[in-house]
Amino acid sequence: MMSSEHAQMEMESATGDVSPVGRATLANPVTIPGTGIHSGLPCEVAISPAEGGTGIEFRRGGGKERVAADWRHADADESVRRTVLIGAGGERFEQVEHLMAAFSAMGITDAIVEQIGPEVPFLDGGSLTYMNRLREAGVTPLESSIDPLVIVKPLTMQDGDALLTATPHNGLRLSCFVEFPGTIVGSAGFSLDVTEDRFFEEAAPARTFALAADIEKLREMGLARGGNLDNAVVFDHEKYHNSSLHFDDEVVRHKAIDLLGDLALLGRPLRGHFWAWRAGHQSHVRFAQLIAEEYGL
Ligand SMILES: [Zn+2]
Repeated sequence: MMSSEHAQMEMESATGDVSPVGRATLANPVTIPGTGIHSGLPCEVAISPAEGGTGIEFRRGGGKERVAADWRHADADESVRRTVLIGAGGERFEQVEHLMAAFSAMGITDAIVEQIGPEVPFLDGGSLTYMNRLREAGVTPLESSIDPLVIVKPLTMQDGDALLTATPHNGLRLSCFVEFPGTIVGSAGFSLDVTEDRFFEEAAPARTFALAADIEKLREMGLARGGNLDNAVVFDHEKYHNSSLHFDDEVVRHKAIDLLGDLALLGRPLRGHFWAWRAGHQSHVRFAQLIAEEYGL
């Protein structure tokens, strides 16, 4: 017979450390200029330290427009090829996910992001430049702490072709799977136990990607105008168009950036194993919203 004490221990070993995590912000402000992947226009983010409890907040116009980067403000229907936040007054912030992934991997819980231009700069196409610039700015602990969101039982969501699951895990693990049948990418999977260093080494340099045949269509939709072979992996049925890749499986590694950036919208350190098959920003956002509902956030 299992005593309740034993059952409690079993639960702790299955779900990992449930103790509060120290909040952190930047030691110094940092301004990061670049270009928008979709608009092709100059864009910039000026990231400032914030008080504990602020969370990650996007602002524009000196703070006249502002929106918390959380699941409440993420708009799944609008989040096609990038994640879009929309505030109560219609304030719109686009392409937030690679920066959000950098904050999450680095344990930065509180910061203010003043955005200039229509979207967050695309930079290298992954999270590497953001992590490098945030490291240069420095991360400093805050006095307050935040409870992790601990996945205690399996939760699954089907969204069209996409399937997402969260299961208990001691730590944070991401497992992503892509399927592009009849292309050079084919089927691929990638799992990562997320620590700042492992994310920096194994996922952050992975660039966004596009099927060559889709690029004209994306541009007609007003997307991908700032994309090029330096910041995006482009592939077709038989080859990659880039002269070299950052990883042989760069495409699926990029999915881990996107998944972490979108789960960061939960606004809490995560303890669980998150699985994503054929998923994209729309389904990631919907899954974050389902988790928020399920856990009463
Ligand atoms: Zn991405």
